[in-house]
Amino acid sequence: MTAPPQAAPPVTTVSQELFARARRVTPGGVNSPVRAFKSVGGTPRFIASASGAFLTDADGHRLLDYIGSWGPMILGHDHAGVRQALVEAAQSGTSFGAPGWREVALAETVTRLTGAQKVRFVSSGTEATMSALRLARGYTGRKYILKFRGNYHGHADGLLVEAGSGLMTDAAALGHLGGAAPSSAGVPAEYAALTLVSEYNDPAALDALLAARGHEIAAVIFEPVVGNAGVLIPTPEFLAALHRSRKRGALLIADEVMTGFRLALGGATELLGLTPDLSCWGKIIGGGLPVGAYGGRAEVMDYVSPQGPVYQAGTLSGNPLAMAAGLATLHALEADPGLYGRLENYTARLAQGLLAAAAEAGVVVCVNRVGSMLTVFFQAGPVASYQDAAHSDTAAFAAWFQGLLARGVYWAPSQFESIFVSAAHGETELEATLSVARAAFLELRGAR
Ligand code: PLP
Repeated sequence: MTAPPQAAPPVTTVSQELFARARRVTPGGVNSPVRAFKSVGGTPRFIASASGAFLTDADGHRLLDYIGSWGPMILGHDHAGVRQALVEAAQSGTSFGAPGWREVALAETVTRLTGAQKVRFVSSGTEATMSALRLARGYTGRKYILKFRGNYHGHADGLLVEAGSGLMTDAAALGHLGGAAPSSAGVPAEYAALTLVSEYNDPAALDALLAARGHEIAAVIFEPVVGNAGVLIPTPEFLAALHRSRKRGALLIADEVMTGFRLALGGATELLGLTPDLSCWGKIIGGGLPVGAYGGRAEVMDYVSPQGPVYQAGTLSGNPLAMAAGLATLHALEADPGLYGRLENYTARLAQGLLAAAAEAGVVVCVNRVGSMLTVFFQAGPVASYQDAAHSDTAAFAAWFQGLLARGVYWAPSQFESIFVSAAHGETELEATLSVARAAFLELRGAR
């Protein structure tokens, strides 16, 4: 099989200039690490605008977007209903520092869809998980938390222990994967010591840790479907073991920042039949504006100030613009009962097409997918844990990523992330993606 001609390198002069300016005034030139393309090389594209399933970069290239702002844009970019809600909200003032009707309406919608009894809005997923853990500690009077290797729950100190997402990407670039835990400088060992770590999808290890330390653990926090080590799918046995942690008095916290409203209207909780004590949300709940939330049983949530003794506050929490975008997004999702089926169908066919294209080119990959979340791991698989994911050929992934980007498909710039399909991705986009993916696989094969 002969390799196709290499895609001509696109002209990225404006992105390069912006990146050079950005690096002078911002660490690494970006405001969130994975955006810097560190593990795939090259210049990150600076984005000028977005519409439907497409981004337009600063040099005028139209890119078929599979990041969707890392999850929030499930309806596609610049959705008419969300835009209209934002314009209306902006005409009534942009921040009050006092309660407003949209916070009530969004809380009513979220509780109705998720089964949580009470919810508190914050401004990011990080704030949501950080606050939920403080609440769990306040409620139980215990100080330890338990998390899973390769799960990412935002960047609060106690959660930057054996974390996925950008930390896993950086660790791979530095050659640390599979060795010492990737973690962040600036997290005191005393904080990290309060975080116990177990293996995802290893019910025996979890049971053993719970038997030994369960009485000291305030909360077990987990990604119900992992997106931050690439997509990892929980086994029924692992989910059963998670539920057993409640028998030890630990609160079960489902981090649905990525999966909430994406895998189903009721998130992974609905899809997998989970019964968490608390859940955390972000991304889709704000429809592309900065919103996070945590919620759950009323008896637990009533420990939050001003009702209870656990302090948590926010100047811009419940911001009217953010609430408006969240409300419009959730209402649009509710109003389209066929939407999750269409996302499932598109992404399942994408997975099959990618596997077929890789096989045709003789490139070994394994695809993990749940609903509209998908990762192509450059290895034979199966990939069920952080350790498994770490065996991927990150150099091959980087070359394939560049092959896609050169041909106008904007994939997540790391082996250890999920891509996200939106309602704006249709038949034309699917065909275009598979033809580009095929060319990129063949090019990769030809380069070896
Ligand atoms: N939890 C999960 C599962 C996430 O995927 C993320 C971010 O990607 C977070 C928490 C942190 O959210 P944010 O980036 O909004 O702080």
